[in-house]
Amino acid sequence: MADDAVSIGATTFAFFTRNPRGGNARELDADDIAAFLATLREHDFGPLVAHAPYTYNLCSAKPETVGFARRAMREDLARLEALPGNYYNFHPGSHVKQGADEGVRLICDGLNEVLEPGQRTCVLLETMAGKGTEVGRSFEELARIIDGVGHDELLGVCLDTCHVWDAGYDVAGALDGVLDEFDRVIGLDRLRALHLNDSKNPRGSHKDRHERIGQGQIGLDAFAAVVRCPRLAGLPMVLETPQDGLDGWAHEIALLRGLAAGEGTA
Ligand code: FE
Ligand code: FE
Ligand code: ZN
Repeated sequence: MADDAVSIGATTFAFFTRNPRGGNARELDADDIAAFLATLREHDFGPLVAHAPYTYNLCSAKPETVGFARRAMREDLARLEALPGNYYNFHPGSHVKQGADEGVRLICDGLNEVLEPGQRTCVLLETMAGKGTEVGRSFEELARIIDGVGHDELLGVCLDTCHVWDAGYDVAGALDGVLDEFDRVIGLDRLRALHLNDSKNPRGSHKDRHERIGQGQIGLDAFAAVVRCPRLAGLPMVLETPQDGLDGWAHEIALLRGLAAGEGTA
């Protein structure tokens, strides 16, 4: 993973802690971890943003699904202690007709069980598009989760540009206004990482279909504003755009670095 990231000019990346559809994680290899950390150091990587499998649902109506998500998250966080100081991002969950209030309550219960004082990985709630019964479709819902968790020093937020756009926030036309609202409702100090994705759909569509940077409804000017925004400077920014291979992300990284340096659009 680290070698691939270096080869495309990245200084952060996301990775799944196990097969994204769930299942068992492989044994950790101490030599491999040491080589991985050495490569990150050598190439000045910032924090990485591990992603939990999509199958975890802390607020399922099925107790066995909730139990699995809690156990698997604890296990993932124990494994991430081998890479201290990075992030673990997850989708808060889908309440499947139990209602958002019950969803928030179950997610808080789950996090209160999963988070361990002293753990060295900050857990990031992802902003969601509001597809189906997803919890985390508004800054208010994320704030309610954070409020309900005991060790909230271990909690942050990962803002996905496609998801917030699809949820209705105008990151294309009013980035500063969206960040003001984030700050008022959650607090900008909670914002620890971004997922940079354009969206195939109009604002407020609640669809969650990612598009390549500059080729969707959010548009290139918005991403220029994101990478130039002083309030977002220094945060890890991860691409989750649909590509056929590494070359596509290499191109987007170069494009975004160019925009950050003042090239291209106004
Ligand atoms: Fe995600
Ligand atoms: Fe995302
Ligand atoms: Zn998405």
